[in-house]
Amino acid sequence: MNHANIERIPHWIAGRPVTGDGARLSPVYNPARGVRTKDVGLASIEEVDSAIAAARAAFPAWRDLSLARRQQVLFSFRELLNARKRDLAEIITAEHGKVIDDALGEVARGLEVVELTTGFPHLVKGEYSENVSTGVDVYSTRQPLGVVGIISPFNFPAMVPLWFFPVALAAGNTVVLKPSEKDPSAAVWLAELLKEAGLPDGVFNVVHGDKVAVDRLLEHPGVASLSFVGSTPIAQYVYAQGTANGKRVQALGGAKNHMLVLPDADLDLVADSAINAGFGSAGERCMAVSVLVAVEPVADVLVQKIRERMAGLRVGDGTRGCDMGPLITREHRDKVAGYLDRAAEDGAEVLVDGRGIAVDGEADGFWLGPSLIDRVPTSSTVYQDEIFGPVLSVVRVASYEEGVDLINSGRYGNGTAIFTNDGGAARRFQREVEVGMIGINVPIPVPVAYFSFGGWKDSAFGDTKAYGRQGFHFFTREKAITSRWLDPSHGGINLGFPQN
Ligand code: NAD
Repeated sequence: MNHANIERIPHWIAGRPVTGDGARLSPVYNPARGVRTKDVGLASIEEVDSAIAAARAAFPAWRDLSLARRQQVLFSFRELLNARKRDLAEIITAEHGKVIDDALGEVARGLEVVELTTGFPHLVKGEYSENVSTGVDVYSTRQPLGVVGIISPFNFPAMVPLWFFPVALAAGNTVVLKPSEKDPSAAVWLAELLKEAGLPDGVFNVVHGDKVAVDRLLEHPGVASLSFVGSTPIAQYVYAQGTANGKRVQALGGAKNHMLVLPDADLDLVADSAINAGFGSAGERCMAVSVLVAVEPVADVLVQKIRERMAGLRVGDGTRGCDMGPLITREHRDKVAGYLDRAAEDGAEVLVDGRGIAVDGEADGFWLGPSLIDRVPTSSTVYQDEIFGPVLSVVRVASYEEGVDLINSGRYGNGTAIFTNDGGAARRFQREVEVGMIGINVPIPVPVAYFSFGGWKDSAFGDTKAYGRQGFHFFTREKAITSRWLDPSHGGINLGFPQN
């Protein structure tokens, strides 16, 4: 292919596509074909500045628009997104590789947040106390921050931006989104849809880029806050730099999610759940189950049930009705595959090796089939690292206590699940486990839009989660007003604090 003629994905600034100077380009692939299909320009500092300037210019009018008018835009956006979700899913599959059904699921979870924001006035209401001192009332309001930055990862090119920007916009902020450079088209598609829904130009902007763009957002005095989702080292960096520069920051990082199986669990449900949560989206989910912790004596039976189910999985092009698609890039596929070698070196048993499986897709795709590793030593990097691929590790423990200790000793705390029919054990787990999102007989416990999403420990930096009530809290700041309307019976000089 002649790369000189390849389509370039534009930025979206001030309500229109902007091609950019093109000095630095990054390839965008169709991972199921292994083919470079588009390029994306990595923004220069000037290009980021122009997006921030557009957002700053649009802020006063958007902030001052009535809540009802902002709601109307969100209602229109919800209708358009719902009507065209298939188009968005196809874009996601073409650049990310996940199967169409899963891409539709991603859009559905994003739509939930948009639906939440159509009723947002309830979530930005202040409080009022009358007569706190004689003739004095106190009330609070929540006001937008200004220009907010959003930086998103490759694995949910639509859903993760949708966790944040509908909330930010509803609350009256203007937005600069920097999506992953690996699958950037979804963000521009969403920007066009927002314009069609009636969003004024400049209120929502997209700049593509890498560290240069992120660093500019982190240091620019015109950016009030940053919402980041990605790997832990970058999340830590964004949190440290952003807060040092005086910004409000929420930075969600990586994960290593465990599923604890007690001997009384329904093992068929467990096996189905392990397959769905371990291999869905090729394991490229921050809530994927990566480690199955089996409390003996059930491990042998469970491993057998999982192997039987794995044999029936169809891996291939996401547009062909397969169960699982490719990984995002060739490099990432090779990195994930490397863990299978390491597992064997570290003394684990590689029961199913996903390399070289037959796929329903083109030979050059970034394929790695579902893989199962038993008896993984907890000293191995296979156990410790976030692999972010279709590799499920099994660790065998002797008791519930050993399982919980294992989970609590890890550095991450995003999601976890317990499988049991014992309500008391489940309740104890919910109280004892040091993880932000818990599933009880539910393998991927992503909270619905009116709760909030976020992990503990090295899975999230900052104290505010995404969407729900906490999302609105993040994107607004509170003002407290103390008022007294003159009453002829009051007045006089008193230099002390009032004693009511
Ligand atoms: P990543 O950290 O490589 O990239 C995330 C974002 O940071 C991208 O926009 C990228 O362009 C930017 N970036 C990359 N390198 C940078 C650098 N050196 N300086 C500044 N910015 C940089 O993550 P990814 O590979 O796109 O996504 C996968 C990761 O995201 C996994 O670790 C996964 O667990 C995590 N994730 C977490 C959640 C969550 O809610 N906790 C959700 C989804 C994904």
